[in-house]
Amino acid sequence: MKTNFNLENLLRENIKSLKPYSSARDEYKDVTITEMIFLDANENPFENGVNRYPDPQQNNVKDLLSEIKGVSKENILLGNGSDEILDLIYRAFCEPNKDNVITLPPTYGMYGVLANLNAIENRKILLNNNFQPNVNKILETVDVNSKILFLCSPNNPSGNSFTNDIVEELLIKFNGLVVLDEAYIDFSDKESWLKKIEKFPNLVITQTLSKAFGLAGIRLGICYASKEIIKVLNNIKPPYNINELTQQRAIVRLQKIGEVKNEISQLISERNRLKKELECCVNYIEKVYNSDANFLLIKVDDATKRYKQLIEYGVVIRNRTNEPLCNNCLRISVGICEENQKLLRALKKIQ
Ligand SMILES: *Cc1c(COP(=O)(O)O)cnc(C)c1O
Repeated sequence: MKTNFNLENLLRENIKSLKPYSSARDEYKDVTITEMIFLDANENPFENGVNRYPDPQQNNVKDLLSEIKGVSKENILLGNGSDEILDLIYRAFCEPNKDNVITLPPTYGMYGVLANLNAIENRKILLNNNFQPNVNKILETVDVNSKILFLCSPNNPSGNSFTNDIVEELLIKFNGLVVLDEAYIDFSDKESWLKKIEKFPNLVITQTLSKAFGLAGIRLGICYASKEIIKVLNNIKPPYNINELTQQRAIVRLQKIGEVKNEISQLISERNRLKKELECCVNYIEKVYNSDANFLLIKVDDATKRYKQLIEYGVVIRNRTNEPLCNNCLRISVGICEENQKLLRALKKIQ
């Protein structure tokens, strides 16, 4: 259990006293007169489907998410992609030119980009050779200004999940926020940490509709945390951060959760098939790492050469050779069956 955590102490001073912008639609609450007319927000009254401002609290989207994920609405905040959520967390908790965050490369690049953008020191502690966090080094690096520890599990670009023991130890021993990025959790057979947000008041989980839910184009990220943390982030988010078209498309998709699950299981079986094919049949591939995500990291003889050769064959993958611990590594997203076949044919031809 967590004892030394105090949300109030972590918050920036200016955020503690902040009064949120109150939008027209925030003020009017659930009055049940049937024929209400809305002359409060200077909208154009001619109906075209999107002439009104969207629901600033995205209640219909949250109702569906709450049901699917088994989390109460008060524990959910939506953002314009996970990227907006991560930025909100920085702005709520990290004092520019004073505080620091901890990231564990090789990992998702946005944590570091947002640190730079917000003038926050990024203390990088490399994962160990199994791509697991180095708990002792992390705890040695922490000081009173360490506000956030970013854990990405399953991790991008390595594809593995961090062990439960390690995540739990970090949640207990680190007294700042632990942001656990679960962008790829729906491709994993390991359980999400969602059920633990009550137990660990410093746990913030981010997920997204960009990957397993197939909606990268609408930009919808999800944050799950204690009511107290969600309330803070709600106070500082732009009032209409999730546009109406995004809300509509998310609702349609979440109502067809069966379709989503079907696509996920197809991608998982394609990932496993692709892994076997890569291991057995391409001689310059030295290693295919285990993956709990919808991509595979492979180690080859010469990543940059192979990357360029594949482009000649019309196949674009990601060259990760310049990332720490990823020398000569390539990251390959799992496509539909025909795409994976095309990839395999190209890989075999370029010997
Ligand atoms: C793709 C990805 C995201 C998704 O970001 P969005 O802004 O929601 O599209 C988040 N975290 C990681 C690690 C990712 O790889």
